[in-house]
Amino acid sequence: MGLSACDAQAERWRKVSVLPMHIVPDSVLRERAKRVSNISPSIQKLIDDMIETMRDSHGVGLAANQVGVLQRVIVIQLPDDEEPRVFINPELIKQEGERDVEEGCLSIPGYRGLVKRSVKVKAKGLDRKGKAVRVNADELLAQALEHEIDHLNGTLYIDRLVDRTKLWKEEAEEAPQNQEEREETPVEAQYTG
Ligand SMILES: [Zn+2]
Repeated sequence: MGLSACDAQAERWRKVSVLPMHIVPDSVLRERAKRVSNISPSIQKLIDDMIETMRDSHGVGLAANQVGVLQRVIVIQLPDDEEPRVFINPELIKQEGERDVEEGCLSIPGYRGLVKRSVKVKAKGLDRKGKAVRVNADELLAQALEHEIDHLNGTLYIDRLVDRTKLWKEEAEEAPQNQEEREETPVEAQYTG
């Protein structure tokens, strides 16, 4: 007995893989990802693999550049989300306010920094079925959308540091200058993506 070509392909799509994470200074992190013009089975597979990779790395979000693919796809799963959020060709259409928040990136392992982010954002894009979606976001979701859409444009959070001294090694023995601020941020509200 054997699987038909079609079954074999369906079987392959169902297999989900954790993809290798691309880390700095990999040039793929500095390139602009291309718009997805066709939400093909290979894009669906990419989405599934990205979700698996994000969970495996304990990230809140992930952009396709981070797994070496220059397509405009991001996935986000906040601590309270039951299902991951998928955005294809996401765009920020409004950014309001300014705040300093702590952030980490799966592509810059071992470091965290204090960055400037918006208080509220509006974004639009497509879901994995190709349906247009719009989202009004604040707090962690706003930060996630800004961080991940930045990735698609080749921008990293280290480009947005409040100042250059506001980057520190995780679990550094020496407390960073903003230790008090950090202690006010509950762990579940800290961003890595
Ligand atoms: Zn990142």
